[in-house]
This record gives sequence, structure tokens and C-alpha cells, in this order.
Amino acid sequence: MTLLDTYKRAPITIVAGEGCELIDDRGRRYLDCIGGIAVCALGHAHPAIAQAVAAQAQVLVHASNLYHHQPSEELARELVTRSGMKAVFFCNSGTEANEAAIKLARKWASRRGEPARRTILACTGSFHGRTFGALAATDNAAYREGFEPLPAGFAFTPFNDAAALEDAITPEVAAFIVEPVQGESGVHAATAEFLQTARRLCDARGALLIFDEVQCGMGRTGSLFAFETAGVRPDVVTLAKALANGLPIGAMLANERSAGGFVPGDHGSTFGGSPVPCAAALAHLRVRDELDLDARVRDRSAQFFEALSELASSRPEMLGEPRGRGLLIGVTVQAPYDSGAVVGAARECGLLIGSAGGNTVRLAPPLIISEEEVSRAVALLGRSFDSAQDKLRAIGETGLSRIDTW
Ligand SMILES: *Cc1c(COP(=O)(O)O)cnc(C)c1O
Repeated sequence: MTLLDTYKRAPITIVAGEGCELIDDRGRRYLDCIGGIAVCALGHAHPAIAQAVAAQAQVLVHASNLYHHQPSEELARELVTRSGMKAVFFCNSGTEANEAAIKLARKWASRRGEPARRTILACTGSFHGRTFGALAATDNAAYREGFEPLPAGFAFTPFNDAAALEDAITPEVAAFIVEPVQGESGVHAATAEFLQTARRLCDARGALLIFDEVQCGMGRTGSLFAFETAGVRPDVVTLAKALANGLPIGAMLANERSAGGFVPGDHGSTFGGSPVPCAAALAHLRVRDELDLDARVRDRSAQFFEALSELASSRPEMLGEPRGRGLLIGVTVQAPYDSGAVVGAARECGLLIGSAGGNTVRLAPPLIISEEEVSRAVALLGRSFDSAQDKLRAIGETGLSRIDTW
């Protein structure tokens, strides 16, 4: 063991990628419907990304935030223009973007002369990252256990329960943080009513509304920002995963109301806004415009939902109706079938998918996925379910526990 044992890695070694396919060290090709967990929006080895990275690396890799540099300022301008926000803070990951948002909310309250306004309110089923602040806002016992004490001043309210928000958004709440589509807990979209109520109550009671779009942003729901699909504007948006199509970057976008929460010295990151990831993100934005990617995502999403719904009605004992938004799709696997076993069976069939909370299979393919590839993915998924069923029969009821070793 030279890599610390923090992941349950599948027993394949990936050496290359091409479009929506990954290739292992034996030359086997896999149709990639998890996309590096919602990261590779333009697929693998996209020439525009490769070219932008190479060109930037030949000019300037790092200069630090002691100075201005062009890629970060150009990317900030693009994000501000496209989001209607006021300013951007760059970091290197999703959890860091959420740390920045949490710190901004508290500092913002302090600056307004409300030092008692400390609470960060999050939702049941939330996932905001693995560092301490983001973890304190994450409702997943397995991720929290053994790391206590977590930072104080965090509270939870039931996801999609608009009535409960009335009581939860108290005068102590500095910010309410919510994923417009929860990813890790099993792909659950927030309802318009829930988000509208959150907006109204945050305004009325002086709290900030933060959308964690680390997974569901950057075009995944069929608009660049998930808040456009949701029809509710937050004060702060966090981005990461797909922003630079695979290079490490995170961003926190703050609107007019909240941006003044930070002044020089309040927060920082050595690598944040580094030129190479910013150049990749700029190339990503350029390509998505050229491809009219939002329209494509909406078409492919409709195709996926229809085909998965058909698959569900042909195997009602195994899987539920698809849910989610755009190309972030979850399908519940019914007991005794297990989502982990289905993911393993799919891999053996040449399809890469993920599992998420609540015995859910998660699909987050590259947004460039073609009509033919969607059909192929659903056909392979059908075969994976059949194969999982055969294995379950072969093992028999008594051997059920062996399934998760596939
Ligand atoms: C992945 C994810 C994060 C954490 O991002 P990292 O880059 O892994 O730190 C935070 N929030 C959401 C919604 C995510 O899906």
C-alpha cells in the first residue's frame, strides 16, 4: 500500500481517454457514464483543453496571487458576465469553494455588525466536502464519525421541506447552503417551492443563500448554472468539478449583496486562480458555446429519461424510475439487488457508472455524449442488470453478502 487506503478502487487501471470512452491497460474500452464524477463535461482528451493547457504551460504556470495575471481575470470576467454575480474567488476544489462561502457568510455578518449571526444551515442528505467546515455542513454520519469535534455553529433542516424552513432560518442563521440537485445522497432535485421559500426567507431574515453547484453546475442540468434551471438566484454560488474539465479548480461567486464580506487578507489560496486551470476553464466555456451544449444536454437528457423509464418498466422488481436533472441522473436499485453490484456488473459489460446514497446508481456522463452513446449506455445498463440478476441467482439467498466483493 503506497497510496493511502482512502478509496475503494475498482480493479482496473485507466491509461487513456477519448471522448466518452476510457481505455484500460489491457486496451479494453469503457463507455464512461460517470465522467470522473461529473468532471469531464467535454469528455476525455478534448483537443481544445489539451491545447489550452499546453499553450499556457509554455508561457506561465504560476506567479501567485501577489500579482495580477490574465487567465484568472479573464475567467472571472466570463463567470461574472454569465452568472450576473459581482466577483469570484478562485481555489482548487469543491470543498475549498464551500469553505470560502462559509467563511464569507460569517465575515459578512460580522462586517454588518451582527457578530451573533453564526449559524450555517444545511440540508439533510447534503454533501459539501471533506474539509472541516464543509464536513460540518455535510449530513453523512459515515463521513463525520471519528472526526469530532467538528466546528460549531452548523444546523440541518429537512431537504425539500419548505414549511420547516420557516422555523429553521432563525436570526442566528448567517447562511443557508443547499445543492439545487443533491448528488452524493442519491440524486435528488430541490423543488422550485423549496428554493423559492429559501430565497424569500433569507431575504426577509437577513441570511445569505448559498447554492453548492459543485456537481450540478457547469451545464449539467441543461443551463450553465443550475440556478437558471431552478429559477431562483442565490447570493453565493460554488463551482468546481467540471469547471476546468479535469484540472483542479474551485470558484466561489458572490453577488453585489455578499461580495463585500471579504476584504484583502480575509481569505486566500496559494494555487487559487492558477493560470493553467484557468486557461482550461476558459477553453471549456468557449467550446460549450460553440457546441450549443445546453440544447444538446436537454435533448440527451430527454432521451436518457425516456429510455431509463422503459428499462424500469421492463424490470420493475429491480429498478425505480429515473430522477434528477439534465445529465445528472439517479436510479434506485431495489433490494435485494445492490447498486454497488450493478456498478461492478456494468463495468464488466464495458460501462462505467457510479453509485450514490440510498442504493442508487448514478449517471453523470460527459455532456458531449451522443445520441448513439446514450442508446448504447442504456442497452449496456440493461445487460448489467441481467448479469447482476444472474449472479444473484447463482449465489443464492444465503450468499448475498458476497455480492459487494464483485
Ligand atoms: C464533489 C462535491 C463537493 C466536494 O468537491 P471536492 O472537489 O471533492 O472537494 C462539494 N459539494 C458537492 C455538491 C459535490 O458534489
